[in-house]
Amino acid sequence: METLTKRKPSLIKQQAPLRDSTHLMDMCMACGTCSAGCPLTGVDGFDPRKIIRMVLMGRDEELIESKLPWLCTMCGKCEHACPMGINIISTIRTIRGMVDRDKVPGMIHKGIELCLETGNNIGLPEEDFVFIIEDVGEELAAMPGFADFKVPIDKKGANILHTLHNKLVNTQNEDLVHWWKIFYAAKEDWTVPKQNWEGVNWGLFSGDDEAMKLSVGRIVDNMDQLGITNLMYPE
Ligand code: SF4
Ligand code: SF4
Repeated sequence: METLTKRKPSLIKQQAPLRDSTHLMDMCMACGTCSAGCPLTGVDGFDPRKIIRMVLMGRDEELIESKLPWLCTMCGKCEHACPMGINIISTIRTIRGMVDRDKVPGMIHKGIELCLETGNNIGLPEEDFVFIIEDVGEELAAMPGFADFKVPIDKKGANILHTLHNKLVNTQNEDLVHWWKIFYAAKEDWTVPKQNWEGVNWGLFSGDDEAMKLSVGRIVDNMDQLGITNLMYPE
């Protein structure tokens, strides 16, 4: 299966308008309900109401250059609580997308480029990925009650396509076992793709629409090629 769509490393930032009608921020009445529900309010000066008010005041550049938009976890509590139905998360994501890609904090942008190049955010070669998951599968098979366990890879016609959080493949292998024990106990028919298995979409998180769509498209390609209609996505 070869579905990698190449994209050259880029510093593309989004040009989506920040104050368009989809964000509904003109409706903000500064009630602070969003801030009261946000688990990050007060952390390093973060506050969702402040973000919305800064945008309304035209302080875009200040926001784009600050770390405030990157503190949000996109959990959605603020939007759920907002009495005016303001799209707070998409507002914050739009701000992130307006940041030059070489200024995206941490390894997020680097991870996106690795994902576009290799199919996963940590750039793990296919043979290493297969080795790791088969090894973890063998460890599970050695436990009492799982003697015939095998990790199904690229199984056509399975019921569920199981994408993986790179963290579980890279450093927390033992957490994979929890998922697989449940599948085993439920007699589930599932499979892992050996390419494009990444289940963490940093394009979504960072406001990179192009990368987000490419990553999602690859998962859809995997499902089409394997004839699978159900997806397990860890994010
Ligand atoms: S809850 Fe909604 S209306 Fe109230 S301050 Fe937050 S964004 Fe504005
Ligand atoms: S989505 Fe972001 S701003 Fe809203 S409650 Fe969660 S962390 Fe706070």
